[in-house]
Amino acid sequence: MSWQKLELIEQWLDNSAGRHSQELVVEARLQLAEGRLLFSRRDIESSSAPREALRVRIESAKEGFQQILADPAASAGARNRAQVGLRGAEVLLAAPGTKTVALIKRAQWSARAPRTANLTPLKGQWSRITVHHSAESTTDPRGGSLEESSGTVRSIQKFHMDDPEHRWGDIGYHFLIDSGGRIFEGRELDWQGAHAGGSNNYQNIGICLLGDLEKRAPSEAALKSLQVLLDDLRTRFRIPADRVAPHSEYATTRCPGPALTAWLRKYK
Ligand SMILES: [Zn+2]
Repeated sequence: MSWQKLELIEQWLDNSAGRHSQELVVEARLQLAEGRLLFSRRDIESSSAPREALRVRIESAKEGFQQILADPAASAGARNRAQVGLRGAEVLLAAPGTKTVALIKRAQWSARAPRTANLTPLKGQWSRITVHHSAESTTDPRGGSLEESSGTVRSIQKFHMDDPEHRWGDIGYHFLIDSGGRIFEGRELDWQGAHAGGSNNYQNIGICLLGDLEKRAPSEAALKSLQVLLDDLRTRFRIPADRVAPHSEYATTRCPGPALTAWLRKYK
């Protein structure tokens, strides 16, 4: 296996996979994911690649293996290889020095368990991202404490799950960012979100900045974290920059406020 061969497989998958048998496509995907994992292991041992690049490559390998496990055309042998690769990728991702986006996990903000019967599993792959504001004024614009922001995220989850007009299976957004730049894990990425309205939620990752951003601009710290998170998600799921939008592109709303909407136009 060489870098050159990996690139050729990638090109082949992008350009001509549709004209070949599913068996061949599964094999190519497996080789690509296995190759990415192999080179990542080598680079970690010799510390010869930047952390971010390594992490992105391991995530791609992991996704490749997951894709094969979800593919009904994959043979038992291919599944076994994918299972082994997936475990290997997870071990590397858990190793120190390979993670860059620090998330406040659900357990850390004391999230309630989702009602999975009321959730829709992701179909296909994430293909777009929509940005919102929470339109509440309990969030401290200067950052506040982790406990305060956790309380705000819990109250949003409670509203989405318990309000009679909502009754969703979980908080609607996949990520929330407070004014201090802390990134909270919302609805898990296994599930479609509830934030852009009906079919607009299809393959659409929802990110919400805390605060009433119609009345004030987002903090510098929040924007910095938003940039890191958007870049990370776009790399992981290969989402083009022009598929990142303010909520107002999908509905008649001023969400997420004028300053953040202008920032998003520039991000494109
Ligand atoms: Zn919104």
